[in-house]
Amino acid sequence: MSIILKNGVVFDGFTLGTEREDILVKDGVVARRGADLAEEGARLIDCAGRIVCPGFIDLHAHFRDPGFEWREDITSGARAAAAGGYTTVVAMPNTEPAVDSQVAVEYVISRGESAGGARVLPAACVSRGRKGGRMAELGLMAQSGAVFFTDDGSPVSNAGLLKTALRYSRDLEVRIMEHPEEPSLTEGAQVNEGAVSASSGLKGWPSSAEVIDIERGVALCRETDSPIHFTHVSTEHGIDAIRRAKREGLPVSCDVTPHHLSLDENYVLVGRFSSTYKVNPPLRTRRDVKMLWNAVEDGTADAIATDHSPYHMDDKDVPFQEAPFGIASIECSVAVVLDTWRKLGRPVPLERLLSLFTSGPGALLPRSWRSLGALREGARADVTVIDMEEVRTVDVSEWKSKARVCPWSGEMLQGWPVLAMVDGRIRMNRLEEVK
Ligand SMILES: [Zn+2]
Repeated sequence: MSIILKNGVVFDGFTLGTEREDILVKDGVVARRGADLAEEGARLIDCAGRIVCPGFIDLHAHFRDPGFEWREDITSGARAAAAGGYTTVVAMPNTEPAVDSQVAVEYVISRGESAGGARVLPAACVSRGRKGGRMAELGLMAQSGAVFFTDDGSPVSNAGLLKTALRYSRDLEVRIMEHPEEPSLTEGAQVNEGAVSASSGLKGWPSSAEVIDIERGVALCRETDSPIHFTHVSTEHGIDAIRRAKREGLPVSCDVTPHHLSLDENYVLVGRFSSTYKVNPPLRTRRDVKMLWNAVEDGTADAIATDHSPYHMDDKDVPFQEAPFGIASIECSVAVVLDTWRKLGRPVPLERLLSLFTSGPGALLPRSWRSLGALREGARADVTVIDMEEVRTVDVSEWKSKARVCPWSGEMLQGWPVLAMVDGRIRMNRLEEVK
């Protein structure tokens, strides 16, 4: 079946067009791009006033499957991702059992394929059981389709093992994703170290915990010349360390999250210590937020990734100190970023911002998936359509995700994804047909 996305403005992953165009999707690929396209029997979807983009890619989501399916599973997670405008999601391996074997990688892929949502690509562990002792079977897991190696949830605890893994991962062309946290500095920590930890008496989580782990990774990257990706970077000094490494020419990359771009530590106070604001790493200072936007602007940040971390209401409905770290966001995170960007007075060009959902993360995937970040003739038809004018309230009761704990619940946001297409198949759509 063919579909023509009519009269949208096209963002191809790099530049935003100026004229209205059509995109013809046929047999799962982008067959043509141009003005006034026609095709016998094609379904026509009205994209006038909208931006037609390559499918959005989320490099970091927790789908809790296997092991914690009451919080989320791969089916609900993949559908939630599509509802949030994503067409590809990288699922984190900190499940139970952890995704540290070929069979576990294959499980995630097969569940993802039958979910009818976004494409799910598995990240696999660096170390067995994420314990930092022995290396997981990286080669076999890469063969089966792992697209990142990470012990996320925690850092790779053993620097020697990380160095060896970096060497392997380079040959396998699968990037290591490091969760930057020095655990000896964060034991018992609850909120950002500074004004909020001082006034609340809660233990502070210092910026140094992030910087030290990033510097360790940069040093190992320098010695191995192997790519390393730092996820959910949250501080000015963390960004500075990555910027310096990039200037040195090292193959370093990073992502930032929608919540760290839009919320600061004061929300913990204003929110009266609701666990809805408890995340790892914690919400930081207003200055850190500003520096993250600078990183988006100057290319230090390569991607915006959700760190969607679903918990059951009962997990989070406890005093702040007892609650687990993490919030669910995948169904509203694109809107959160677009709305924040508008409220901040458009601090970066729109095409720069959109590239962090598309070509930026796409470039960090293994070669076979790299074309996902660009909208080109002949490429897989993964498409996300954005409506910058649409205003909607975040209604968690309608979510496909099993999670409901979200700091933007009930908030009105402007700028939403309105269509998501994976391999030419529509997975989410609020647009009308052309009559
Ligand atoms: Zn993490």
